Amino acid sequence: MKKVCAISGKKFEVSQEEQDFLKNIAPTFEGEKFDIPLPEMSPEERARQRVSHRNEQFLFQNKNSFSGKPLLSIYRPDSEVKVCSREEWFSDVWDAIDFGRDFENTKSFFNQYHELQKEVPYAATVTVNNENCPYATSLGESKNCFLVNSSDYCEDCLYGKLLQHCTSTIDSSFGYKSELLYECFSVENCYDCKWVYYSQGCHDCWFCDDCRGCHHCFLCTNLVKKEYYFMNEKVSREEYEKRISDFLSDHKHILKAKEIFDALRKKRIYKYARAVNTENCTGDFIINAKNCLDCYDMMGTEDCRYVQLAVESRDMFDCSNIYDRSELSYNTLGTMNTFNCHFCLYIFFCSDLWYCEQCFSCKNCFGCVGLRNKQYCIFNKQYKKDSYEKEVARIIQSMQKTGEWGQFFPIEISPFPYNDTVAQDYFPLTQKEVLEKNWRWGEDLNKNTHPQTYDVPGKITDVTEAILKVILACHSCGKNYRIQPLELTLYRKMKLPIPQECPHCRYKKRMDLRNSRKLFERKCGNCGIEIQTTFAPERSEKVYCEKCYLDCIE
Ligand SMILES: [Zn+2]
Ligand SMILES: [Zn+2]
Repeated sequence: MKKVCAISGKKFEVSQEEQDFLKNIAPTFEGEKFDIPLPEMSPEERARQRVSHRNEQFLFQNKNSFSGKPLLSIYRPDSEVKVCSREEWFSDVWDAIDFGRDFENTKSFFNQYHELQKEVPYAATVTVNNENCPYATSLGESKNCFLVNSSDYCEDCLYGKLLQHCTSTIDSSFGYKSELLYECFSVENCYDCKWVYYSQGCHDCWFCDDCRGCHHCFLCTNLVKKEYYFMNEKVSREEYEKRISDFLSDHKHILKAKEIFDALRKKRIYKYARAVNTENCTGDFIINAKNCLDCYDMMGTEDCRYVQLAVESRDMFDCSNIYDRSELSYNTLGTMNTFNCHFCLYIFFCSDLWYCEQCFSCKNCFGCVGLRNKQYCIFNKQYKKDSYEKEVARIIQSMQKTGEWGQFFPIEISPFPYNDTVAQDYFPLTQKEVLEKNWRWGEDLNKNTHPQTYDVPGKITDVTEAILKVILACHSCGKNYRIQPLELTLYRKMKLPIPQECPHCRYKKRMDLRNSRKLFERKCGNCGIEIQTTFAPERSEKVYCEKCYLDCIE
């Protein structure tokens, strides 16, 4: 069925599978089946709305609502939510059920829900079992990491995102089982690599893109199992060392190499998608998956559509950040091991939840925030099974009248300003555009732009410990930043110059190198068959179908 997006005005399709899925999950309460209306917004706008409820990157000095003491939080001090430490949140000093309230038929559901959000404390950050990682969120089982987010099992990493089992990396994202990475993304099993993208099993490489099993390669693309290659040309070991030594002599020459690399990347051959061991899948970055359409960053998933970032999960439409055997969800963000939960945010080990947030080990709840080990609760109030069903039926009927039934939490009630969220990464807007939509924009709290008085040596061998005490000014945005002791150690170890841009500018540039999560129809640049790819048809890169790509690369 063709529809027009109520937000963007663009046409979109609601497939028969999607309609069947919505019929299948429609709940029955008090003998009445409550159909879920077909979406009014395009998949992109639905994703934007979801991820506008996720800040996985920015930390702020906030105040503990229990003790009044300062604490670091993903929520800004001027946000409407109350925060406490993660330890307090999981302790018995408080109980979210104490915030229980009745639903009033005369008021909107989301307004009443928003009132509850403002009362129940939130854990300041999302972290599990870390050691010496005070500046981190969405981080687990890690040690000595600094500003690393959405990652686990990492050690000695700085400024990273989506890293798993990584050690000693700086400014890298989407990394798996790798060590000594700098400015890398989408790499697996790599060691001592700098500016290496979309590569597996490489070591001692610089400025490489789409390489597999290579070592000692410099400025190379589309190579498999090669060593001592310079600009895709085989050279002797001595010649290789000679050629790269000039480039690595100082910061200026490194920048020159980066420029050449950017030009080489435009000319390389791209596979239509990064898909490994997939069956009937479209999207990008999909590994071991079946029947996943319009999906991105998926691993071990089945029967999904419009899903971003899912691991070992199945039966999902319109979901993001789904982990650990979650099953059957619609329009949900942030789960671990859940079943039959819809329109939810950050729920763990739960089943049969609707419109719930920050709940652990709960069953059969509706419109609840911050509950642990509960069932049959509505707006954090405890009910008996019979009265629960009756009350939920009454609320859904009311939501049907207001048009709220089947809608995800509006961007307006997100506790985060738009520019603090993942929405700004994938659907960037200017401050003006955000304010025009009546969403919130967070002022930059790091306003310091003192000019840099310290002259940073271009060669890392000339840099002394003094650099740890000085304030640097970003060459792009002018903001001040510092070098961490671990960072200096790693720059020395990897023979890298001190970066002249602030961590956030570096992050933004890396994100810009990735295609947006959007599919286009295009023809294979070699054989001409139809392909679906994240490369827009007007882009100049050579994008090939699987067969042509393999014929050229192997
Ligand atoms: Zn900057
Ligand atoms: Zn082809």
